[in-house]
Amino acid sequence: MALRNLVIEGDPLLRKTSRPVDEITPRIIKLLDDMADTMYFEGRGIGIAAPQVGVLRRVFIVDVGDEHGLIEFINPEIIETSGSQTDNEGCLSVPGKTCEVERPQHIKVKALNRNGEEFELEADDLLARCICHENDHLNGILFIDKSVDGKIYNTADVED
Ligand code: ZN
Repeated sequence: MALRNLVIEGDPLLRKTSRPVDEITPRIIKLLDDMADTMYFEGRGIGIAAPQVGVLRRVFIVDVGDEHGLIEFINPEIIETSGSQTDNEGCLSVPGKTCEVERPQHIKVKALNRNGEEFELEADDLLARCICHENDHLNGILFIDKSVDGKIYNTADVED
């Protein structure tokens, strides 16, 4: 088990565009493993993107607690979106903050798995939301940029 340090909002790394992975090396496999350790260790995380651990590569993982379990995405591309859903989001890199964000209700995404095989996945609801959130990280976009009412709330105020 290897935890990586989280990059926190305010760090310019979170605003950079990540580069594609051109070869799935042992370093990329280690990155995926460490990202999972870090996401699960933090408990509340249902997704994490490589820039959040300081690596500007197009890699993210999600586990929203559904039948898919952990899903790893390398060089992801969201190829279809439809519908809309609006709900609160949070982020391990933006601790203590939440806001309402509009996302597609349904998406289709393609990516490579850790074996370098291309796969396609259709997702709805929370899984679609989570994939869109993580994909934004690869383009330097944070959920707080997309608040539907322009307001950012402290989670303590919302949960109480
Ligand atoms: Zn995030």
